Amino acid sequence: MSVTPPSSADAGWRLESTYAALPKLFYVRARPVSVTAPQTVLFNRALAEELGLKADALDHPDAAPLLTGNLLPAGAEPLAQAYAGHQYGHFTTLGDGRAILLGEQVTLTGGRFDIQLKGSGQTPFSRRGDGRAALGPMLREYIISEAMHALGIPTTRSLAVATTGEAVYRPKPLPGAVLTRVAASHIRVGTFEWAAGHGDKEALRALADYTRARHYPETAEAESPYLAFLQAAIDRQAALIARWQQVGFIHGVMNTDNMALSGETIDYGPCAFMDAYDPATVFSSIDQRGRYAYANQPPIAQWNLARLAEALLPLLHEDEAKSIELANLALEAFIPAFQRHWLTGMRGKLGMFTDEADDAALVDDFIEWMRKTRADFTLTFRTLAGDGAAAHGLTKDASFRQWHEQWTARLSRQPQSEEAVRARMQAHNPAVIPRNHKVEEALQAAVEQQDYAPVKRLLEALARPYDDAAAHSEYSTPPPPGGQPYLTYCGT
Ligand code: AMP
Ligand code: MG
Repeated sequence: MSVTPPSSADAGWRLESTYAALPKLFYVRARPVSVTAPQTVLFNRALAEELGLKADALDHPDAAPLLTGNLLPAGAEPLAQAYAGHQYGHFTTLGDGRAILLGEQVTLTGGRFDIQLKGSGQTPFSRRGDGRAALGPMLREYIISEAMHALGIPTTRSLAVATTGEAVYRPKPLPGAVLTRVAASHIRVGTFEWAAGHGDKEALRALADYTRARHYPETAEAESPYLAFLQAAIDRQAALIARWQQVGFIHGVMNTDNMALSGETIDYGPCAFMDAYDPATVFSSIDQRGRYAYANQPPIAQWNLARLAEALLPLLHEDEAKSIELANLALEAFIPAFQRHWLTGMRGKLGMFTDEADDAALVDDFIEWMRKTRADFTLTFRTLAGDGAAAHGLTKDASFRQWHEQWTARLSRQPQSEEAVRARMQAHNPAVIPRNHKVEEALQAAVEQQDYAPVKRLLEALARPYDDAAAHSEYSTPPPPGGQPYLTYCGT
């Protein structure tokens, strides 16, 4: 095994590999494939510190080989994880075809985070893929995942992007890169489908126990720990999807292999944020039928969770009919849970401190007004949170005025001051999201001119999405009207 260079030998690595203690079914030992010329182009110093890593040692040219997998940090036990998944509704076997898990970094406060290299070369799961990733999509994952984190939405994070000095063909030659991804874990709904697909109940139980201990320790106390686990996983996804809906985030490829049991957003591919509110919004060029459109995200999450429930059936009850009944009951709780999380979040966005019976209808009316007028989702909420809607001409619209009167009346029935309402709204309505046109602009400069300044400026704005300063920056304005519809691509 390679030794680490002097500057990064003592970079604070405290790697463990508890995942490797699972049955062999769940992984293959495999190493990253070395690249020609590793060079770090983005490094997340704040995240490094949170992980107990020494930013100075790692944010250094000598450490670049660690960030492409040419060298391994002390304690790494590299492996490719096995999983299956339903892609666009169809079951397939998958696995890490272009990623290597180095291990779990244990932080000084006892946190445990997967450190994964994405784009690190072929593995036994690569099928016909090259195991590589292009620079643009890896920068994109870095930008959007860090934006989601700053918005307060559970997500995997990005520690670094390093270029490889090699081209990848998509099909035209593009610069290759490796992303260092940090996750609470990479256990997916598809990991459970993999175990269930093998009909190996003991492996399934081992995976469920491992996942419960790592992400749902409270289920140990439950009378039926596996049912409690399913219920908690369902609730966590309902909460996550509600958060996505509240910022207009469209994941784009909600296959079951891209749904993490940790409850974090994972696998940023063709994702993007909606500008004008339209529930039918789809960005992914291959999602022709809109399976993963904005409005479909809650039912698709429920569909994915049904695949999880199916996989867990053998553990729910010894009697299969009873298992199915329990699973169905658990799944039925998804939509009410989603609605509850949605309403809680929307009350925050609309400055409501108390609960009133008509709140959901008031929210729906506002959303419906946005749909009719194709209002910019982010800017409209932020405008409401500011010094009244008048500033942006919203009150000129009669139907808006009518809604606004009801809303103002609603707010007057709670004891909180106007300032408190405004503060609450500003904390719930971002001024800055990763606008597609700004993301594209920044990526283009990086990929075509090796100019990383626009990406870094964008990252700075995205790090403080709720700040008032950000509200008056170039990053808070919607795209100029009349542009082409935005399209994103898979096979990144
Ligand atoms: P994704 O669409 O990124 O969720 O990936 C779906 C599956 O395809 C996963 O098993 C990936 O590991 C695999 N995959 C994606 N791109 C590549 C590639 N360039 N080489 C090998 N496998 C890949
Ligand atoms: Mg994936």
